[in-house]
Amino acid sequence: MVNSYPDLARLEGVSKTYTSDTGPTDALSRISLSLGNSETVAIVGPSGCGKSTLLLVLAGLEKPTSGSVTFKGQKLDRPPREAALVLQDYGLFPWKTVRQNVELGLRIRGEAADESRLQDLLGELDIASKIDDYPQQLSGGQKQRVALARAFILNPALLLLDEPFAALDTLTRERLQELLARAWRKRGFGMALVTHNIEEAARLGKKIVVMQGSPGRISKMIDNSMACDKDYEESDLFYDMCQNVRRELEDVT
Ligand code: ADP
Repeated sequence: MVNSYPDLARLEGVSKTYTSDTGPTDALSRISLSLGNSETVAIVGPSGCGKSTLLLVLAGLEKPTSGSVTFKGQKLDRPPREAALVLQDYGLFPWKTVRQNVELGLRIRGEAADESRLQDLLGELDIASKIDDYPQQLSGGQKQRVALARAFILNPALLLLDEPFAALDTLTRERLQELLARAWRKRGFGMALVTHNIEEAARLGKKIVVMQGSPGRISKMIDNSMACDKDYEESDLFYDMCQNVRRELEDVT
């Protein structure tokens, strides 16, 4: 049966306290959030309010101290096979070529890459000519395209991105945002994106979660259903949305 679970991922009353030699740090307090199939959510808020922690909890890489996390209706107790994580620093292996980096996740799963699918994907991401290059031969934007290819080839139901374009110049950043929106229109994965960039949140998050405080909690959930639509950012509605998010952020910083 298709879609027999109501949500792709769901957090209920999630709190997270890190313990280290310097003592405990409360990172999240009673976060409840659901992400539907093919839904996209952008998470914004000041530094230290727990955005990355929230993403790691969704990825099954950090366990909540209390509360529950489910993925496709099942309790999440390890990273789900159907989730892919893209980080700001690309996470590419410098001694591997573009092809080897993209194939890595599949190889870890014991699967082989289908050659025509790999070529199509690299073409879609405009890095086909770089297939035998090493990461140090690529620009920052190209490296992040490789990281996206490595995620997309896994066909994830859930794509998690932590400040993926923060290190890139504005134009490259906007191109990659559009590329990501296009990939979402084509594939319809669920997506959670942490960003500091207001326009990025408005372009990509159908739901915009504004976090605040330490430990972090959700201060506002903004409906932004036109995100990822092709013509949205040409409209006044997009401008108004950016202003709205800006106001909410000013209130919490
Ligand atoms: P954000 O992504 O919003 O900047 P983080 O989730 O990175 O926030 O961090 C939230 C809080 O948790 C911060 O106080 C941070 O110092 C702390 N923190 C994050 N990761 C760890 C960790 N591995 N061990 C201890 N404290 C951590």
